[in-house]
Amino acid sequence: MRSITVLGATGSVGESAFDLLMRAGGPGRFRTVALTGGANVLRLAQMARALRAEIAVTAWPQCLDQLRAALAGSGIEAAAGPQAVAERRARPADWTLSAIVGAAGLPPGLEVLARGGTLALANKETLVAAGPLVMSRARETGARILPVDSEHSAIFQALQGENLETVEHVTITASGGAFRDWPLERLAQATVAEASRHPNWDMGQRITIDSASMFNKALEVIEAHEFFGLGAERLRVLVHPQSIIHAMVTHRDGGSIAHLGAPDMRHAIGYALNWPERAALPVPALDLAALGSLSFAAPDEARWPALRLAREAIQAGGAAGAVLNAAKEQALDDFIAGRIRFTDMAPAVEHALEQAAREAGFGQSPRDLAQVLHWDGFARRAAAQWRGAA
Ligand code: NAD
Ligand code: MG
Repeated sequence: MRSITVLGATGSVGESAFDLLMRAGGPGRFRTVALTGGANVLRLAQMARALRAEIAVTAWPQCLDQLRAALAGSGIEAAAGPQAVAERRARPADWTLSAIVGAAGLPPGLEVLARGGTLALANKETLVAAGPLVMSRARETGARILPVDSEHSAIFQALQGENLETVEHVTITASGGAFRDWPLERLAQATVAEASRHPNWDMGQRITIDSASMFNKALEVIEAHEFFGLGAERLRVLVHPQSIIHAMVTHRDGGSIAHLGAPDMRHAIGYALNWPERAALPVPALDLAALGSLSFAAPDEARWPALRLAREAIQAGGAAGAVLNAAKEQALDDFIAGRIRFTDMAPAVEHALEQAAREAGFGQSPRDLAQVLHWDGFARRAAAQWRGAA
């Protein structure tokens, strides 16, 4: 029986994975090693009981007593703290889904790779902040990384049986998020509630706001660069409001292979769960006749400066991914807390990148977690200082 672990089980992606695992047969079909979550320990305990997990881990130490109480009588072990999230290492699993949000997903992801299992990666920040380190760790141990971000799963699927050498470019689509059709001058007044509404996907709040600012797509362009080894000149973003085509691979012979599907994360999670097989999934097939038409537009970089920053970060290389990611996390925290405006996020990130570029060692990719965390801390401070400097 295959053993599985879900990091970030209580989030949006984690809930979709739980739904899939339960429908596929739950504890009769998989041996669940560990489930991890944050403050929602009641839900975490419920999931751990349903899947008969060996251990449930909350990232928040102050939630441990509550988690223990919720697991009482189940025989399921409880643990707490970031270290405990990473250290399920004493308990390897064949397949681990990383569905934690933010750079916090990197340490447990690296732990999984060190042991050589399969890492199904929804946590795009792992590759954005530390792509070269993560990919070389996987090569050293023979660990496999399977993309779960829908666009990257789409590229991965479109590339099966194909040769990357003949690829002219890869296109990932973007819905345009909450403010696609807003007048530009209104963006500065956008509220957190307005930015938290996604037209097509039901996701966690942070990635939903990142979709409105296109920082989500910026991260995804870098993620595609790191995972598939494509330069910025071979990566394109296309605005596609219906989110039906997720990505498209265009070959030098003029042919393009696109991946289409309903905007439902259970497809990409289920594909990674069953890979290299395909299994039936509870995802409805597309009805293109009912949809009638699909539309496309080139992204406007005045509206979405994050796309330019992603391209520049790929060209800069070195620590730029770690800096862009962490500065974005800080700017997003500041926007959510009401300290800066929606349109301040990109300038704050750009400021952090400019400051970092003046530092010694910026041109070298971080070689270990400590170096990533160094740039992460630097970038958060620089992005926070932008408020004072602006
Ligand atoms: P979410 O906020 O809904 O859930 C995040 C999960 O991580 C929760 O279980 C939370 O408890 C846990 N968590 C949060 N902070 C943590 C920390 N510091 N340490 C340990 N655990 C922590 O997020 P989400 O929308 O499910 O997204 C998860 C990841 O998947 C993100 O990297 C996101 O970019 C990516 N992703 C999400 C979707 C989607 O449809 N939601 C699609 C593609 C990619
Ligand atoms: Mg995506």
